Amino acid sequence: MKKYLQKSVCIIVACMIFSGCSRQPVVYQKADTAMGTIINQTIYVSGGSGNGQAISEEVISCINELETEYLSWRLDTSEVYQINASAGNGQKAELSGLLGDVLEQCEKVYTASDGAFDFTVGKVAGLWDIDSWAVMQTPDAFIPPTDEEISGALAYVGSDKCRLEAGYITLPEGMELDLGAVGKGLALDEVQKVLAGREEVSGAVISVGGSILTYGSKPDGSNWNVGIVNPGDTSQNLGTLSLAGEWYISTSGDYERFIEKDGIRYHHILDPHTGKPADSGVKSVTIICTAGSGISGREGLYSDALSTACFVLGVEDGLKLAEEFGAEALFVDAQDEIYMTEGMKQYFHLSNAEK
Ligand code: AMP
Ligand code: MG
Repeated sequence: MKKYLQKSVCIIVACMIFSGCSRQPVVYQKADTAMGTIINQTIYVSGGSGNGQAISEEVISCINELETEYLSWRLDTSEVYQINASAGNGQKAELSGLLGDVLEQCEKVYTASDGAFDFTVGKVAGLWDIDSWAVMQTPDAFIPPTDEEISGALAYVGSDKCRLEAGYITLPEGMELDLGAVGKGLALDEVQKVLAGREEVSGAVISVGGSILTYGSKPDGSNWNVGIVNPGDTSQNLGTLSLAGEWYISTSGDYERFIEKDGIRYHHILDPHTGKPADSGVKSVTIICTAGSGISGREGLYSDALSTACFVLGVEDGLKLAEEFGAEALFVDAQDEIYMTEGMKQYFHLSNAEK
């Protein structure tokens, strides 16, 4: 009888350990390229790493679909491409539910930032040919546009010149939508829905270029640590954000895409009022928005739009703009000084080397 009891206890304990293990999340990590940038995924998932692989593939499909069906200005399959192609034909173009919503949110940031963020910056961005910088053999091949060329292109920029009504947009001739400043953040909003639809996922960190989503929690319950690049030395982190739960983090920096010629750094964040790389005295801006912060379930989009807008505005006006949207902001200026919203101070920890 005693032997029988001992055997039963052993079987029960083994079952408990076994069933416990199968519910225990495993970590699945993957790096890919999509949307012209690097996508890093860390997913805590129950039921084995096969689930992690399947979910990470869904995430990549979601990002690719967003690019090819909605946002790309290069692929003729996308809605943005078709709207740009129809500019000036006098007809209003019908918007999908997704793009209609995105443009509505973008218009709010355009207005609140006095045009520092402008989703019709396409003509000027095209003039600077930003994508070609990365493949140029030498900066000598780079010829900055002339002031005349810039003022010519600026005639086609200004979100207030396009007509946005429920479900439709009308673009004047020559105007080009450019959603490059919100695409990566928007991708995070869509990826969040993929993760939320899979109950096997208990936590994840997904980065799409300079935008990062933290989702759920780690198995040990500790906070997510997200490094912020030191714009003065991009091989180092300036510090770390310690965040619990769901956050959307976007950084706009002059080190992300640039070309240097004759001692001048030309970067990819343009001031829509001058048509030139923004010169507001900042090197980088990081914006963080949490889930449910009251900005329409598009916190990823807002973090991205605001990081671009704040970069163009500079520290003083940028801090005000971030606070207006209930977002937290961290600026690094040209002298490597750090400025933050009050709320950011509880999340940001300076790296030891910098203290
Ligand atoms: P980000 O890296 O998020 O700041 O976005 C920069 C990209 O957005 C550029 O590569 C341009 O395609 C576009 N862009 C540049 N300046 C602006 C601006 N002021 N407002 C909106 N989009 C911009
Ligand atoms: Mg942005």
